Amino acid sequence: MRILVTGGAGFIGSHLTDRLIADGHYVIVMDNLITGNYNNIARHRSNPQFEFIHHNVSNFIHVIGDLDWVIHFASPASPIDYLNLPIETMKVNSLGTHHTLGVAMAKKAKFFLASTSEVYGDPIVHPQPETYWGNVNPIGPRGVYDESKRFAEALTGAYHHQHGLDSRIVRIFNCYGPRLRPDDGRVVSNFIKQALLNEPLTIYGEGQQTRSFQYVSDLVDGILLLMGVEHHEPVNIGNPEEKTVLQLAALIKELTGSSSEIVYKPLPVDDPQRRLPDITKARTLLGWSPKADLNDGLLKTIDWYREFLGIPAKSSVAQR
Ligand code: UDP
Repeated sequence: MRILVTGGAGFIGSHLTDRLIADGHYVIVMDNLITGNYNNIARHRSNPQFEFIHHNVSNFIHVIGDLDWVIHFASPASPIDYLNLPIETMKVNSLGTHHTLGVAMAKKAKFFLASTSEVYGDPIVHPQPETYWGNVNPIGPRGVYDESKRFAEALTGAYHHQHGLDSRIVRIFNCYGPRLRPDDGRVVSNFIKQALLNEPLTIYGEGQQTRSFQYVSDLVDGILLLMGVEHHEPVNIGNPEEKTVLQLAALIKELTGSSSEIVYKPLPVDDPQRRLPDITKARTLLGWSPKADLNDGLLKTIDWYREFLGIPAKSSVAQR
């Protein structure tokens, strides 16, 4: 198949691109590299099955040739990125989604939207099933991401209902793995970097808030399975193993063999208190469930960070 992946130079987009190319597909990555990195896909540069277009999908999109899929992953996705780039974030999820939907229509291609657990905001229902409408502050700092992703879901649904577009929507819960940008400010990237540099681990608030972390290969498996079924409603993909931020800090300290201390910083505005996916739908519809163990996934990520930051392995724990 010929597949357009917007945001394909980003963390998740590049892992998906790797898998699609390995599966024999022709992949066109379109990315403006504001949060993505060409190094994430540079390994494919001389592959005749690969093409890179440096372009912002918030502007009109032109792609030469047929397409079977348009996969829309372009968007800043970490809180500090979308707080620094609020208008770009809103534009890529509104105008960018409109343009990519238009390309899919013009090419008679299927459409795949990367949505997010952030559509549930600071949830008051646990775990979060797809039927939950969420608890989002539209005018808070996170609203730029949450509301524009909600709009993207609504627009994708409208194209499906009005034009019969064959669409998919995945709601992605916290994902980590190699290529998670060390400076993107997320909790896994911050803690691993801080632990490896023996700097204090920065806990926001009291660290009792929870997240459920999935390893990137599990997410890519879920995305590929969702492409294979005709289901137009959103599907949660996430690992239902809930951890407090303090538990995560302790685990990363242990796995890195770090002597970092823990320091407490103010909790960001509207930071969700709990997040836990209900993955009943993914299990029944796709036969998907996460395979990666948190320790193993974190160790692989830590290895990548060591290499990226040029830090040699020291402790026996880290070698496990
Ligand atoms: N967090 C933290 N220390 C950090 C970075 C994040 O305690 O250095 C917390 C953050 O307040 C949130 C959780 O970790 O409660 C997850 O934050 P992240 O930015 O990874 O993503 P989110 O799930 O909030 O989108």
